[in-house]
Amino acid sequence: MAAGPDLRLIQPGGPEEACGIFGVYGHPEAARLTYYGLYALQHRGQESAGITVCQGGALVNHRGMGLVSEVFTGERLAALPGDRAIGHVRYSTSGSSTLVNAQPLLVRTKWGQLALGHNGNLTNALEIRCRLEEQGSIFQTTVDSEVIAHLIARAETATVEAAIEDSLREIKGAFSLVMLTPTALVAARDPLGIRPLVLGRFGEAYVVASETCALDTIGATFLRELAPGEMVIIDRDGLRARQFARRRREALCIFEFIYFARPDSNLRGVNVHLVRKELGRILARRYPVAADVVTGVPDSSISAATGYAEESGIPYQMGLIKNRYIGRTFIQPTQELRAQGVRLKLNPIRQVIEGKRIVLVDDSIVRGTTSRHLIKLLREAGAREVHVRISSAPYRFPCYYGIDTPNSGELIAANRTTAEICQLIGADSLAYLSLADMVRATGSAAAEGYCVACFTGQYAVAPEDSGTDRPGAAAAGAAARG
Ligand code: AMP
Repeated sequence: MAAGPDLRLIQPGGPEEACGIFGVYGHPEAARLTYYGLYALQHRGQESAGITVCQGGALVNHRGMGLVSEVFTGERLAALPGDRAIGHVRYSTSGSSTLVNAQPLLVRTKWGQLALGHNGNLTNALEIRCRLEEQGSIFQTTVDSEVIAHLIARAETATVEAAIEDSLREIKGAFSLVMLTPTALVAARDPLGIRPLVLGRFGEAYVVASETCALDTIGATFLRELAPGEMVIIDRDGLRARQFARRRREALCIFEFIYFARPDSNLRGVNVHLVRKELGRILARRYPVAADVVTGVPDSSISAATGYAEESGIPYQMGLIKNRYIGRTFIQPTQELRAQGVRLKLNPIRQVIEGKRIVLVDDSIVRGTTSRHLIKLLREAGAREVHVRISSAPYRFPCYYGIDTPNSGELIAANRTTAEICQLIGADSLAYLSLADMVRATGSAAAEGYCVACFTGQYAVAPEDSGTDRPGAAAAGAAARG
């Protein structure tokens, strides 16, 4: 596992993140490949995992709560034969963390079975759900993705592909989707391309995945990213691609570069680790400080921290060690044990920290709980000074597109100056990158091609019914994201 979602484990109930999707068509061991693909995407969601395969025209589904390795055993996979499969790893808010909401969803329609895995969050899910419920639809889950299945099931079209295409035109917000029908694998990306989705080839088989690291993991070759508003249909006649929505502008979530994606993935042909390193380099140029050691927070900010160290000439040291072996069955320490200093997830190396002036590089501050906790840990280990450098701009606005960040009231930077935040987290100094510098580090000239709403409040798609800040936001929108 690469990027830092595990950090959230420091603080149960912290910000959460996007889901991971994977699909393969045309390989005798489709379920096994999907398992490896999901394993590579585990950083995108650790709440539940699921695989649907097609066996002799029938779709068979297995889903469970927990990590991919907890949900699937060798026997389980062996019980899922078939030459095509889709898979999903999911993060959800606590209220909807139940098996019924795990994906792929599997439904029966007039065209036969349909399985669906969704990464993102629909901004008009509640509106559609209310309309369909008025008309008599019965929803089984609280995930917004279920409205897609309902729309497809109700479409008055000649084929399931046409029904999918029509439904894609009705939904708004962020969606990267994989779907399986008895005859085809369908993948689609929303008209702004908010969440990533790539296409690859593994021998004769086609593969789709949230990130390129999943293609690498199974030894597949990268073909291309799906274009915003594109839908591909893979069946026994090969691959057909079409635009279900006109391509206007792209709005890839810039936070994919900052935090979500794995460092060994490429987005828009640019390697995520190298972008993070560049973020660190720019930070060092803009906000130098006299210090003895640069350290990063495992795993998400190590790339940026090494960039900071290289540029500043201050040596990089592993100051914090993370225990990576924490699964769903992990028993949280009681408050009493925590107070006694039980540090199961992160532990500083005293010999590196003691008596030193530390530059602590992190990728972002959301609520501020993590930073406060880490600074305290470093001081307890004898740090003389702790200077915090953040490789993104202040995170001020909630995300409505598949990242479960808190209400703006809980975002530490929503209404505070950098000096106030510095004081709250207990740092000696604090600096953030500017949005322009973040964009520059990705190799782009302007922010136009990105969704930067969490930094600016300018939303690529109007939040409509989906916001956690919005009064009346109900189950379909707010409670369950993928
Ligand atoms: P906090 O400030 O305590 O809310 O947590 C911020 C830390 O969580 C950052 O250092 C990131 O590495 C990580 N983080 C940022 N965004 C998310 C997210 N959406 N889900 C989980 N962790 C996140």
